[in-house]
Amino acid sequence: MSPDSNPYRKDFPILARRVHDKPLVYFDNANTAQKPTAVIEAVDRFYRETNANVARAVHSLGEAATSAYEGARDKLARFINANTRDEVIFTGGTTQAINTVAYSYALPRLQPGDEILVTTMEHHANIVPWQLVAARAGAKVIPAPITPSGELIVEEFVARLNPRVKLAGVTHVSNVLGTINPVRELAKACRARGIPLLVDGSQAAPHLPVDVQALGCDFYALTGHKLFGPTGTGLLWARRELLAAMPPFFGGGEMIRTVSFDGTTFADPPHRFEAGTPNIAGFVGLGAAVDYVNRVGLDTIGAMERELGAYMTDALKSVPGLRLFGEAKEKAAVFSFLIDGVHAHDLATLLDHEGVAVRSGHHCAHPLMQFYGVPATARASLAFYNTREEIDFFVAAIARVRKLLG
Ligand code: PLP
Repeated sequence: MSPDSNPYRKDFPILARRVHDKPLVYFDNANTAQKPTAVIEAVDRFYRETNANVARAVHSLGEAATSAYEGARDKLARFINANTRDEVIFTGGTTQAINTVAYSYALPRLQPGDEILVTTMEHHANIVPWQLVAARAGAKVIPAPITPSGELIVEEFVARLNPRVKLAGVTHVSNVLGTINPVRELAKACRARGIPLLVDGSQAAPHLPVDVQALGCDFYALTGHKLFGPTGTGLLWARRELLAAMPPFFGGGEMIRTVSFDGTTFADPPHRFEAGTPNIAGFVGLGAAVDYVNRVGLDTIGAMERELGAYMTDALKSVPGLRLFGEAKEKAAVFSFLIDGVHAHDLATLLDHEGVAVRSGHHCAHPLMQFYGVPATARASLAFYNTREEIDFFVAAIARVRKLLG
């Protein structure tokens, strides 16, 4: 395998390591992405040179830490083309972002009989928070169906946007199928009916340019660790007027204006939603990740991944007895599959012995597994630092594993 065939591999130190004495082939990028040196060093430098709490101290380190943290917010705001930096709330990831909308926006508005519309292909993070608040309010979570090839049936989604629907949620890119959903079209249909749309951008932000204003959605959530940044970072973007009308979800330090036993008043967004000491070094690292992605360029990343994705599709189709899940026309380089007579976990375990990291399981998408009538799949998900040579090695490894299993 020739690491030289991809100039970006050297930016990711972990890609040089061996697993079971074989070169690591990391195909679990939809689970979490690897970190470039620029991110690792930004976190390291923060702790060595700048560490202090944010928004509390007037001493030099306190000011430097606050400016590094708020500087990361500026970078993220530009990255998603937010209208203002105040629309970007830092969260621990997508899960926390969606829960914030569920408890702070949806719960106070839901009435018995109301509905929240999602799709069959959602990650549990875009189903379970809605179910929790719906149960409290006597409301329901309804799925919009997909086709067997893994595409959302847009007219069925739109047909379910009735006056009982108080919010709709859709993943921008499916973590299992790779399907890229037509968010602009869905947002337009929601907007025409006065229904806010939340987009789960976890799998989109590392691969496609995200422009929240052009998409026309109302809430956008993403997670930093899939975007080459540290774990425990992410964001919620929402239109300013929505945030202004949302009460805080977590209470504590940093999110108040005044506190008294006669009544507490809250800071303006985004600080209203950022109670307690945040993962400061993590967000500094996320800012560095965004700088790195901008340096490489999402156009370059997209072109490389499309090329690798086409190569992977052909390679997988050449494997006898392989069933591929998700063949949408617009698709990211995420490949879920099963091989006749081989359990997904056995396949993933034996591939690990070949140095190949793939995920197996339900991928936090039980309803989607139920739709396909399978308990689990194996999933290979690519990033721009992967290579054709790795794909060749992976397909050859599948053949060896198969032989082993008889
Ligand atoms: N949504 C999608 C589509 C995902 O792929 C993931 C992560 O696997 C999440 C939400 C949850 O992200 P996190 O665990 O970082 O909050």
